[in-house]
Amino acid sequence: PGVEASNARLPNILVTGTPGTGKTTTCELIAAATGARHINVSELVKSEDLHSGWDEDFDSYVLNEDKVCDALEGPLSAGGNIVDFHSSEFFPERWFDLVIVLQTDNSVLWDRLERRGYTEKKIQENVECEIMHVVEEEARDSYREEIVKALPSNTVEEMESNVENVVRWLQTAGPQ
Ligand code: ADP
Ligand code: MN
Repeated sequence: PGVEASNARLPNILVTGTPGTGKTTTCELIAAATGARHINVSELVKSEDLHSGWDEDFDSYVLNEDKVCDALEGPLSAGGNIVDFHSSEFFPERWFDLVIVLQTDNSVLWDRLERRGYTEKKIQENVECEIMHVVEEEARDSYREEIVKALPSNTVEEMESNVENVVRWLQTAGPQ
């Protein structure tokens, strides 16, 4: 521990991906294994009203990015968070030490979103988003290449392996 250690914080991880790729399930497992704080941004937007109303066309809340960042500043500055959200470009870059992009094959993702009760239109939009790698490109445009990792999330085995990888990374990372 040198002089800079006084400003050090625990690492923060962002887990992003198209809806249905397994962000929440993966984050819950990482949090249970490490004691990190899981922040589900979609849930927080609903429970804390961090939106500017409902968008009928997009069938989702209109995100108020300023309110979301204000709400997250405290915990993220302290560190030790696993943040779960499908978008990544509006967060301050300094918040994250590792950015995981979960990815799922089209047919697998289609079935998951159908089980979730999404409309056909919404399923199609999300599967197209996944095919075009929209979430991965957003993450690569917003964070340093070397901290962005795309991981497959089609099977339970892949999820377990992803969780193990992140837990191992957290154990060796130490304060940032
Ligand atoms: P997200 O938070 O990205 O929308 P969820 O974690 O809610 O995704 O997962 C959506 C559904 O898909 C859940 O029923 C979950 O159990 C299942 N699922 C997610 N990832 C996997 C995986 N890698 N293997 C098997 N099932 C998965
Ligand atoms: Mn989720």
